Parts: sequence; structure tokens; C-alpha cells
Amino acid sequence: MTTSRLTGVDLTRDFGSGETLVHALTGVSLEVAAGRLTAVTGPSGSGKTTLLNLLGGLDRPTSGRVLLDDTRVLSELPEAEVLAVRRRRIGYVFQTFGLIPVLSAAENVEVPLRLAQVEPKERSRRVAEALERVGLARHAHQRPHELSGGQQQRVGIARAVVAGPDILIADEPTGQLDSDTAATIMDLIVELAHERGLAAVVSTHDPALVARADHVVRLLDGARL
Ligand code: ADP
Ligand code: MG
Repeated sequence: MTTSRLTGVDLTRDFGSGETLVHALTGVSLEVAAGRLTAVTGPSGSGKTTLLNLLGGLDRPTSGRVLLDDTRVLSELPEAEVLAVRRRRIGYVFQTFGLIPVLSAAENVEVPLRLAQVEPKERSRRVAEALERVGLARHAHQRPHELSGGQQQRVGIARAVVAGPDILIADEPTGQLDSDTAATIMDLIVELAHERGLAAVVSTHDPALVARADHVVRLLDGARL
């Protein structure tokens, strides 16, 4: 596979119209390189979520482009192709973990493999490996409410990487965690980006976490500082 890379070129995103028009993002360019963790930081309302949604193919820009590997324009692909790219190549980590309450940790991690129609034996192997990697091998059969916030986010991270994506998008993954737990979660994401060569982008407003990133993009009022 070619070295993966996500590039945002002059990204603008407006919401609403007329009197309710909001310029959430105004001409932001950035590069998210493989094997590196890029932190997007800025105060609440500065456009972090808007930017990550564009990079992750969850939303489309009002103007500007998102390039995948310098060759494909993700932001202009037909919806079905965007969906295919999202399933095959992108892992997402959410602030509120996004786990399914009635499923065990292992079953939650297994979901993307089921979607990808990986066969059962291979699924079990990969789920066990992913849980082991995030330090939760002994908690495989517990449900989310039986796990701490930090453990739940480790499940979320295992689920995000289990299908072997080359891009990782994490919007405030530590926003619900205490500062020590947040630091260990950020370290885990940095390590995974390095060891798996992921093009990783994480938003946070916490300076202690920004300091752990390889590259920093600072936003204020929808623009890069
Ligand atoms: P952050 O994640 O940094 O807190 P957001 O990207 O969520 O910032 O929001 C940037 C700006 O865009 C804010 O002013 C927010 O209110 C606005 N915004 C975000 N999403 C929408 C939407 N769907 N409709 C209208 N305004 C939005
Ligand atoms: Mg946000």
C-alpha cells in the first residue's frame, strides 16, 4: 500500500444560512501524515469537530478539498465510495466511547470485523489480539457498564483499529476522562500511530495532551493560528 496521507486544502464549512449563517471553518489547510499523531487543538467552538468530520468523510466542505493519498478527492467521492473508504481505511474513536451497552468488550470490538465479513475464527483471533494490545485481555467478557471510563475508551480504541485501518480519527477521546487516565489514553493512541503507521488525528483542548503529539494544528474561530 502507498503511504497513507490525509490532506485538507483550504477547507471551509458554513452551517445554516442568512441570519443563522455560521462560519465553522474558514480556509484551513493541513497534512496528516502516516505514522504520526496530529493534534487539533483550540477552545470550544473553534472548529475541531467540524474539521475532523471533514477529514473522516463524515461531512463535506462548503469549499476546499480533502485528499486521500494525494490522489483521491475524498470530499468529492460519491457517498457509496466514501462509505467504502470509511469502512476499509478509517477507524474512529469517540468522546463518549460509543460502545453498545448489551455487548461485551470483545463483542464490541468484533463489530467492524462482522461488517467486513471476516470469518469467525479470524474474528476471534483479531479481537483477542486487539484487546491484548490495549491491555484488556482479562476484561473481554465484561460489558461497558462494568468497566471504568478509561477501560471503555480502550475498548473503543481496540474497536477502531481491529480491522486494520490506516487512518485514525479521534474527536476529544479523553474529554470524559480524568487527567491521568487521559494521558495514558493519549499515549496509547500515539504508540498505535507509530507502530502501525497510522495517519492519526486527535482533537483535544488539553495542553498536556497536545504536548504528546508529533504535530499540532491550532484553531481559533475556525481558522489556523
Ligand atoms: P469544537 O469542536 O472546536 O468545539 P465545532 O466544530 O463543534 O467546534 O463548532 C464550530 C462552530 O460551528 C461553532 O460555532 C458551532 O456552534 C458551529 N456548528 C458546528 N456544527 C454545527 C451545525 N451542525 N449547525 C450549526 N452550527 C454548527
Ligand atoms: Mg468538538
